[in-house]
Amino acid sequence: MAPNSDDVVKGVDSLKISGKPSETPAPAESGAGAVPEKGDPSISANRMGGDMWVVKPVPGAGYGAVALREIARGTRIMADAPLFVVPTTVNDVKTMAQIIALGLKKASKDQAREFLTLDNAHKANGPLVGKASTNVHPMGGGGATEAGLFLAACRINHACVPNAQNKWRADLGRMTVHAARDIAAGEEITLTYLPALFPYAERQTILKEHFGFVCACATCSLPAGEVRDASDRRRKEINELDEKLGDGKRIVKHAEEMLHDAWRKLRLLRDEGITDAWVSRAYHDAFQIAIANGDQARAKVFAERDYEATVACEGKDSPEAAKTMQWVKSPKAHPLYSGKMQWKQGVDKIPKDLIDDDFEKWLFRLPKEGLTN
Ligand SMILES: [Zn+2]
Repeated sequence: MAPNSDDVVKGVDSLKISGKPSETPAPAESGAGAVPEKGDPSISANRMGGDMWVVKPVPGAGYGAVALREIARGTRIMADAPLFVVPTTVNDVKTMAQIIALGLKKASKDQAREFLTLDNAHKANGPLVGKASTNVHPMGGGGATEAGLFLAACRINHACVPNAQNKWRADLGRMTVHAARDIAAGEEITLTYLPALFPYAERQTILKEHFGFVCACATCSLPAGEVRDASDRRRKEINELDEKLGDGKRIVKHAEEMLHDAWRKLRLLRDEGITDAWVSRAYHDAFQIAIANGDQARAKVFAERDYEATVACEGKDSPEAAKTMQWVKSPKAHPLYSGKMQWKQGVDKIPKDLIDDDFEKWLFRLPKEGLTN
């Protein structure tokens, strides 16, 4: 099953011009990197932040976007139009510099000036291409052919367990960012720049190589040893389960095992503190398993949960949410549905007398004693 949120993934694959790294290298790298070259680093970004967030210095990470008030899960933090757009397929630095210069010509003076205050993790490519490739967001998933410079969104630093989710909304022409969990006043807003849940050592290598900084987020600051190892094991297993759940050939023959895999993946995501688009993706997997086996009752519950998670991370107006709402209303309208299948039952079979653990056991077809792992 393909990811249902393209922006789970940052453009590590197409880094010529599509890396969005942290604002600055970690302190060990270059403390001075945090200082903008000139002017206010955040004129237009702060105008967009209103009373919700502001760009300001954050400990150990240069500048970052910080919540000015409590931001509830699902709140749209920003909907940012690109200052300019560049193709991700151009490898030639000179051509790229021309494209960026042309884009900047159309921008206001303030915005062009603000672009020039951004960090440059690829100095060898010159200021325009270096700053762009350091700060652009891919407009879409891994195969995105375009990337945009979003003056507000590019202020959001990376965390390995982020509290927000970005999504390129082609229908709006904007990059939206939503709170993936409740964010406290004074807390930094974060996104992940990584395409998968890598273990600690791999994360550090990729972030350093592609984005030029050493990650010192809460997850990377877990003490070495058992605590960090446990996080690494969870991530490894989530990836393994993700791959297994992507194997459509198993969906009927190994239906029950797959549903248990989805349950386990959701539990690992919860234990790792991950609340972004990974959650809707896991529920979408579960939905597909249920409906491919004719179970409209479970499929409806999974679709409802997928919908809730999608709305939280993309907004009620997202095309993905509208699509998911179709399955909530009529699970059997899904192309994978066939009434002949092994778990055939109608939506009226959602049990009304079960709550909490008992309901979850029913939902994921877990044995009475639960699953031990
Ligand atoms: Zn980290």
